[in-house]
Amino acid sequence: MVHGCKGYDPTTGAVSFPIYQSATFRHPGLHQTTGYDYSRLQNPTREELENTLANLENGKHGFAFSSGMAAVSTVLSLFSPGQHLIVSDDLYGGTYRIFEEIYKRYGLEFSYVDSSRIKEVEQCFKDNTAAVFIETPSNPTMKVSDIAAITELAGSRGALTIIDNTFLTPYYQRPLELGADIVLHSGTKYLGGHNDTLAGFIVVNDDDLAERIKLVQKSEGAVLAPFDSWLILRGIKTLGLRVEKQQQNAIRIAEWLNSHPKVDKVYYVGLPDHEAYELSKKQASGFGSMISFAVKDAALVEQVLERVQVVIFAESLGGVESLITYPMVQTHAAIPEEMRERIGVNDKLLRLSVGIEAAEDLIADLEQALK
Ligand SMILES: *Cc1c(COP(=O)(O)O)cnc(C)c1O
Repeated sequence: MVHGCKGYDPTTGAVSFPIYQSATFRHPGLHQTTGYDYSRLQNPTREELENTLANLENGKHGFAFSSGMAAVSTVLSLFSPGQHLIVSDDLYGGTYRIFEEIYKRYGLEFSYVDSSRIKEVEQCFKDNTAAVFIETPSNPTMKVSDIAAITELAGSRGALTIIDNTFLTPYYQRPLELGADIVLHSGTKYLGGHNDTLAGFIVVNDDDLAERIKLVQKSEGAVLAPFDSWLILRGIKTLGLRVEKQQQNAIRIAEWLNSHPKVDKVYYVGLPDHEAYELSKKQASGFGSMISFAVKDAALVEQVLERVQVVIFAESLGGVESLITYPMVQTHAAIPEEMRERIGVNDKLLRLSVGIEAAEDLIADLEQALK
């Protein structure tokens, strides 16, 4: 994390990897290249970041995109009309939207399932199933799917396994090591870590998959800019420190919320009474710092969102600042009401991304907001 891949500029010794703010590169002569020709194809700063992420995920090939959604879109364009994907039913709303409103029009089929129930996943397979796409822990109800069991099942049916690893980051969970084929990230969240830039990533091991992804990346051009690549490289240097502190805070806050009289239910993977506590410990080395909680009275929601002062009422997650969101009207607005209600995204549910502030300050803030 601290030293990246090359880590420094070999030509000058600069310990901060330079921002190569150039669209194009001078050819030394006819049929000659420095290895860089045009920044949509490759740029040294982006390449350093892509290699760093590949190393962190223990994968072979990394790709950086202008947002998490650009990375999701790139993965979807690997498939052909008539192919079927099995998908977690508790998903980031933008991912649901791109499936339903964009890629369905291009002939892909999607089945939504509670991917924490392997039997139900198994029942969704069809002759044309090409992939299983999951988020674990899921967003926002923190369900945990068994990555090794799903990759084994998918592999036996000739389907790829795609894991959105945004919530835990490679610091806590490395799906490729558990057999997954494709790892995805919104780098906007923990990897960048400062709520100051958008980014997305794909990491794979397979050379053939990597070639197909590279073709889409350079053809569609949703690549991460050099400066934004540098911001994420800088963010990654402190990833370990940040997520450790965020997790410490999250454990304290989850326990505190769990005993609060106005809180009905707390969804946090790190609480020992979470149904997948043991599975989490088996497949990840940490629980992360995303907490959702349902208040007993829906009228409290507006009060909390208006009263918080240290915690910021804003979309997104993973940064040093604690953020609170109302999934039903924000991140998950694109999901139909019937499906939202079934998974528990209702008018009482709030989602908290715990930052690195002092835990006492966060608890005092939530206390006054819930009064
Ligand atoms: C935010 C998010 C995305 C989308 O990423 P952007 O960087 O906002 O485009 C995808 N998946 C998950 C789990 C996310 O939290």
